[in-house]
Amino acid sequence: MKNRKWMAALLFGLLLTVQLAGGQTLAGADTIPPAMPVVDAVSDTALFITGKAESKAKVYAFSGNKKLGEAEARNGRFSIDILKQKIGTSIKVYAVDAAKNKGKSKTVKVLATPSAVKFAATGNVNMRSGASVSTRILTVLPKGTIVSYINKTGTWYKVKAGKHTGFVSSAYLKKFSSGKPVSFPAPSKKTPGTYVNGVLLVNKDYGIPSSYNPGVSARAQKGADALVAAAKRQGISLTPFSAFRSYSRQAALYTNYASQYGEMEADKFSARPGHSEHQTGLAFDFGGSDQSHWLKESFGKTKEGKWLAANAHKYGFVLRYPKGKEGVTGYQYEPWHYRYLGSELAAKVKASGKTLEEFLRVKAK
Ligand SMILES: [Zn+2]
Repeated sequence: MKNRKWMAALLFGLLLTVQLAGGQTLAGADTIPPAMPVVDAVSDTALFITGKAESKAKVYAFSGNKKLGEAEARNGRFSIDILKQKIGTSIKVYAVDAAKNKGKSKTVKVLATPSAVKFAATGNVNMRSGASVSTRILTVLPKGTIVSYINKTGTWYKVKAGKHTGFVSSAYLKKFSSGKPVSFPAPSKKTPGTYVNGVLLVNKDYGIPSSYNPGVSARAQKGADALVAAAKRQGISLTPFSAFRSYSRQAALYTNYASQYGEMEADKFSARPGHSEHQTGLAFDFGGSDQSHWLKESFGKTKEGKWLAANAHKYGFVLRYPKGKEGVTGYQYEPWHYRYLGSELAAKVKASGKTLEEFLRVKAK
């Protein structure tokens, strides 16, 4: 069966040759060279070169004049054992059939392993031939170009970008991850209180028992830590100055405010005991580098306040008392008070542009 197939292929090859040669008859042997192999991508950690080639053909891999290996193609595929090759190495792969016809060679370049660390260019940046500004400019990488890190020489990173490999000053690169951003899980549902669509709602209408005294939520704390760290990487200094507050602490605060301002005024900015989100362990108050803006509306205009408004949802937090929503939330604008919901829900609430009450379709009693 296999033999017959092979004969058929040979015959077809001969006919083709005869036709191509314009009627000249060629004696006996197969003179059709095997097709150029199809070669799978080769990474710098690969120990094989694989691909497709004519069955039974011998497939050879060379780097310059150096033979890397050979293997026979079976069922249309080949796998050649090689030693690890450096990124950028050109490898020629060609097939030789049983009749010793040599096919055209396919050239592949060794690529950085796909999991390689990637950076994005923070501006239009020169890629140079060496690790210094006195070396030749190979190309200019436009802002936002994603490059694969190879290695470094001082503050210069050798990187690969498309078909170019060269050196870029690391001052113009920032870490890039193409994967999903880290997600921050929703808080546990162990907190007593009212849940609306699975979300704990604490406000002037919905409270939690005085006996509930959990401390700060571990999940919310992780989100807050990541938020502060991310802000810091971007030159934004945030301090979470208040998180968990016990029932008794809130009672003391409220009593103090009420005696100072009267209950009506105190209710605009302070929760009554049992009605503070801080008692859930899920609320954080943040401040910036200038303490004179802490707990003030003006914090919303600082770079730290703006950064929070734009980014807090990525770490699971939403601005709980937005401007102009006093009638819905019962509180004046508090650009410092953020509530942990987990990043999935926080992103949805943020995108909706609504307060948590509006998002959950809860009307004030
Ligand atoms: Zn607060």
